[in-house]
Amino acid sequence: MRIGFNHATNLYNERFDNEGSRLIILTKFATQLKSMLRTHNCGELRSENIGEQVQLSGWLQRSRDLGGMTFLDLRDRYGITQLAFNMESNAALCEQARKLGREFVLQVEGKVIERTSKNAQMSTGDIELEVSKLTVLNSSKVPPFTIETESDGGEELRMQYRFLDLRRAPLQENLALRHRLALAVRTYLSSASFLEIETPYLIKSTPEGARDFVVPSRMNEGQYYALPQSPQTFKQLLMISGYDRYFQIVRCFRDEDLRADRQPEFTQIDCEMAFVERDDVLALFEGLMKHLFTEVKGLDLPDFPRMAYDEAMEKYGNDKPDLRFGMEIQNLNSATQGKGFKVFDDAESVLGICAKGQGEYSRKQLDALTDWVKRPQIGMRGLVYIKYNADGSFKSSVDKFYTQEQLGEIAKTCSASEGDLLLVLSGDDRLTRKAMSELRLEMGGRMGLKDPSKYAPLWVVDFPLLEKDEESGAVHAMHHPFTSALPEDREKLKTHPLEVKANAYDMVINGVELGGGSIRIHDRSEQEQMFDALGFTKDEAEAQFGFLMKAFEYGAPPHGGIAFGFDRIAAMFGGTDSIRDYIAFPKNNSGRDVMIDAPAPISDEQKKELGLA
Ligand code: ASP
Repeated sequence: MRIGFNHATNLYNERFDNEGSRLIILTKFATQLKSMLRTHNCGELRSENIGEQVQLSGWLQRSRDLGGMTFLDLRDRYGITQLAFNMESNAALCEQARKLGREFVLQVEGKVIERTSKNAQMSTGDIELEVSKLTVLNSSKVPPFTIETESDGGEELRMQYRFLDLRRAPLQENLALRHRLALAVRTYLSSASFLEIETPYLIKSTPEGARDFVVPSRMNEGQYYALPQSPQTFKQLLMISGYDRYFQIVRCFRDEDLRADRQPEFTQIDCEMAFVERDDVLALFEGLMKHLFTEVKGLDLPDFPRMAYDEAMEKYGNDKPDLRFGMEIQNLNSATQGKGFKVFDDAESVLGICAKGQGEYSRKQLDALTDWVKRPQIGMRGLVYIKYNADGSFKSSVDKFYTQEQLGEIAKTCSASEGDLLLVLSGDDRLTRKAMSELRLEMGGRMGLKDPSKYAPLWVVDFPLLEKDEESGAVHAMHHPFTSALPEDREKLKTHPLEVKANAYDMVINGVELGGGSIRIHDRSEQEQMFDALGFTKDEAEAQFGFLMKAFEYGAPPHGGIAFGFDRIAAMFGGTDSIRDYIAFPKNNSGRDVMIDAPAPISDEQKKELGLA
């Protein structure tokens, strides 16, 4: 049995039953539920309650008819209580109970009695309710899938009937977890003097790298609002207005292609602070994450190391490295090139990783791995392996080109020892590094190094300020255009803009980017210079961001902030990548809500009114 912990607010006490599946809220909170229709909830009664007369309300999950006895499982969000009906003592009531269908809404009254056959798997498994009165509060159609911890319904069907899926214990726990996180965020930030302030949803587009969702304005024909990709400019304006510590748990909208960890509307914990430098922001929000882990998971996180973007790319091929394991990427150019193997000689980069203790990989496993790197998503032409045998010799796929001594040199560069397997990729540096990053993660998974009970946080800092799109040649802000350059790099913005580092940071845990932010520009001319570097004309910059630049002229304090992906944090705390399971009413992969059937066409009349027809 997992026992929960008291939260900062001390509102309730929680625990999970043996299946780890149902969240039960006891004590204070439970007694607050007392109403005309129930004295207790369905997860609350224990042997201490034996002999008490109680009332419960809930949904009928399952019924079992054993001839002389009928048992019903009554469910609510707190648990399940077994209801017992005895044919001998009350035949009419027993008959009534037998006729009830799944998901009927019932109210029952009765006496708590000891169960003859106890169920140790259930928190209420020692007792049952000997029902003396049964009221059907509402009937139900037969639900299209079973509403139990494991449902028999397919994804699409459960999305269509999300209101029923949400009755299942795992989803109820996910949303309760989300609630506890939100509460802990508010407690921590409020105690650090942050004010929660709402910003508008109907705004003008803010460039954060995605497409905007737009809303036509009836009163301003031919004009459109955009839904915020984030409250970025508003939170900066709030700093100028003197609200030196702001936060908001806020919906953001981005019209992007969807993946498991993306939704067109998602929630951020959005924060901004005035009169701070980078280290102040990092300390405060490292504190927030530690607080969430202690409060909600009962775990103490270590201090977060910091890693420069360049180092992350060099060692892990990725700006959000999973540090639960090492297996760093090694550059093998000097150990491999100039020895007559054309593939390596022609490559910009030859990169290797050392899979510890995997020297026994079979031919079949290596072939499978080679196929894996050749998949279009990874895009490599092949994979070279070097096995470091137990006897100190080497066996590789490039034995024709390298002597044992030369293979030993490569192994040394990778700090390999007997029994290890080296995997080598080569080609264009950027693509090969990216592929190697994927291969490292894949091997980490195959070798069981991605321990789900381990959390490896870090800050990635010193990102490039700008990046060049390889295809179009256009320059973009890597974070967003309001991010300042590192103080020591500011001068370079005019001369070598692509070398400038940003005063930006990301919080990463286990390879997931949970949040990111920056110290902002708070000076008009610096902001103008940034827009210039991004290829905006003066007029374009003025038309889009004149309001912000104007505000900079009225005493803008130095400021910076961060935003966290709240859905991602909830999913990480729940132990999955799928944020959808932590959102009450999510969209599917095509951005549709299949329950309400949106998006949907609008009438011609509505279009006319909006000036769209
Ligand atoms: N607005 C940024 C984002 O949504 C976060 C920040 O810079 O505070 O990623």
